[in-house]
Amino acid sequence: MDTNNYNIITDNLDTKEFIHEVLEHHELVREAIAVGGVVRIYSVETKELFELSVQGTDIRVTGCICGAEPPTDPKDLILEEGFCHTVDFMEATRDIPIPDDLIEYNYIFAKRAERCGCCYCGAIFPGSEITDYIRDGKGDIAGTASCPRCGGMAVVAEEGDIKVNENNLRRWFLHIYDEYSMEGTHPQPKPRELF
Ligand SMILES: [Zn+2]
Repeated sequence: MDTNNYNIITDNLDTKEFIHEVLEHHELVREAIAVGGVVRIYSVETKELFELSVQGTDIRVTGCICGAEPPTDPKDLILEEGFCHTVDFMEATRDIPIPDDLIEYNYIFAKRAERCGCCYCGAIFPGSEITDYIRDGKGDIAGTASCPRCGGMAVVAEEGDIKVNENNLRRWFLHIYDEYSMEGTHPQPKPRELF
């Protein structure tokens, strides 16, 4: 989707730039805009709540509240530490596997995947963009893929039921940083061939 096709209607140039930026970087924002109607986006860092009214390709900024409380509608969007997730993302990601086994020794596998995501920075990209990896004792081809955007060793490749989307990446990020452990409560992924 070309985000330049949208007409962002606001007198505030900073807000216009901000909306352009989130449209470009966040799939969830693009999906919500495509559905249309009222879209709310909240930034945890700045405590700003943007309310948009979307009709076709017109995005009208109908509100920007500074110092707002986080929104509570399940589908409202939250921007946090470079990630974007829905208010209900914890519920939405209840049954996803823990990321540990998906990340390790995945270089060759991830490189072939159409869609990969990084649990460190939240980027989503095709596996063909992965060029670097860490060798980890199982020979060159069993390396762990490095994110083409941030260099982090936390790339998950989409495969069957394992979906790469912004809600899942945020949940995996929280697991990796021990902010919300997924151990013991989630299904283990199936063992994967390394070669
Ligand atoms: Zn990354």
